[in-house]
Amino acid sequence: MPTAAERLENIIDRIETARRRFGPPPDRVQLVAVSKTFDAAAIRPFLDAGQRVFGENRVQEAQSKWPELRVSYDGIELHLIGPLQTNKAREAVALFDVIQTVDRDKLAGVLRAEMGRAGRQLPVFVQVNIGREEQKAGIAPLEAVEFVARCRSVHGLDVVGLMCIPPEGDPAGPYFAHLAALARDAKVEKLSMGMSNDFETAIAMGATHVRVGSALFGARG
Ligand SMILES: *Cc1c(COP(=O)(O)O)cnc(C)c1O
Repeated sequence: MPTAAERLENIIDRIETARRRFGPPPDRVQLVAVSKTFDAAAIRPFLDAGQRVFGENRVQEAQSKWPELRVSYDGIELHLIGPLQTNKAREAVALFDVIQTVDRDKLAGVLRAEMGRAGRQLPVFVQVNIGREEQKAGIAPLEAVEFVARCRSVHGLDVVGLMCIPPEGDPAGPYFAHLAALARDAKVEKLSMGMSNDFETAIAMGATHVRVGSALFGARG
């Protein structure tokens, strides 16, 4: 079994190879290491190896490990990549550095209020339900461009990009291409797309942020 540092180096190499092969754009692809379900002890070797950008999908779970890790390591950037309930918005604004899952007006308004209250203007991504899946979070693709505009003008949020999770089992490329087209129309620069199984495809379609979990941490229990 390769060490955490070896796995990290391998993924960073693959990201860089894909970026060179398919770019530009972008000139840089950010690896978001998805540490959900793994405890602080499992995360530390990645921090020791130099990784600083991590993703978590639950506020409560992130609260149980990241304050402790931030004491030991400087420069951590924590992304919320899971659905956010408005009653957890205050805690999320205090804990995370980037919110990737803004997908409705009520949440956008509450986040704005909580950011104002905390004096912390976080960059956010709008999550798009790119496969129009009933059970999945995200704004509908047809509403995404207008929603980004409303997040900026009505809610005063700093929208930096779009995020999506394509339907499982379908080839992801066309969904990534669709998200990239929406980002151009919405005039946002960043694209959070691609996971362990498809991050190279996502980079070919212009991903600026790839969210990689199991390829780094191993299978989740
Ligand atoms: C779990 C998760 C990932 C990472 O998935 P892997 O297949 O383990 O790389 C990425 N994005 C989101 C939103 C997730 O919930």
